[in-house]
Amino acid sequence: MYRALVARYPYAHAELDFETPLQLLVATVLSAQTTDVTVNKVTPGLFARWPSAAALAWADRAEMEAVLKPTGFFRAKTNSVITLSQALVERFGGEVPGRLRDLVTLPGVGRKTANVVLGNAFDVPGITVDTHFGRLVRRFGWTEETDPVKVEHAVGALFPRKDWVMLSHVLIFHGRRTCHAKKPACGACPVSRWCPSYGLGPTDPAVARKLLKFELAPGVTELPDPPPGPLPDEVRE
Ligand code: SF4
Repeated sequence: MYRALVARYPYAHAELDFETPLQLLVATVLSAQTTDVTVNKVTPGLFARWPSAAALAWADRAEMEAVLKPTGFFRAKTNSVITLSQALVERFGGEVPGRLRDLVTLPGVGRKTANVVLGNAFDVPGITVDTHFGRLVRRFGWTEETDPVKVEHAVGALFPRKDWVMLSHVLIFHGRRTCHAKKPACGACPVSRWCPSYGLGPTDPAVARKLLKFELAPGVTELPDPPPGPLPDEVRE
């Protein structure tokens, strides 16, 4: 199933734009309750205005709220960014630490955010258990656990560490685009033949195909191709 998902989403990646660990950490905090596409629209302005943890820590609150407004919950998010940046300055010299046990001590940073940052900004293998990941691995029958930390350990035991980051990406891509919470597009799904939950959503290919959702960033053409159908031979084997 993993190989079939990689074949479907070979370009799967962290959908938040960033150049530094700090930018990814802040973008991940901002991505709560909104899409990555929306976060990617505000972060260039945010980091141009306040380019370091120190600058973010002492930012004018009202000014930052105006910048973050499109992401929703902007007052709470402004507070989170400022508090997080102050902790980085006070305890880590303004740098984002590269260890899980340090990252999770930062205000508003849980294991999920920490693993996103470690996996994508520090190349440290990590499994990101967000809502999509948890839902899919239970539908796949890979685990029955519901607690994110237990899911992380259960699925981690099934895969070599080198695959953990890509596994997180392709599952999150699949959850956003095909295996939706409410109506999964089973009839257009590349892992349907192995999935014990096949039939949870429409199985008719034409109906299912209409359910596919692709989050398009401005100017990016990401089409739901290759179309559902026979898998490449090496995957089928
Ligand atoms: S067959 Fe349906 S439930 Fe299973 S992974 Fe595909 S879309 Fe999700």
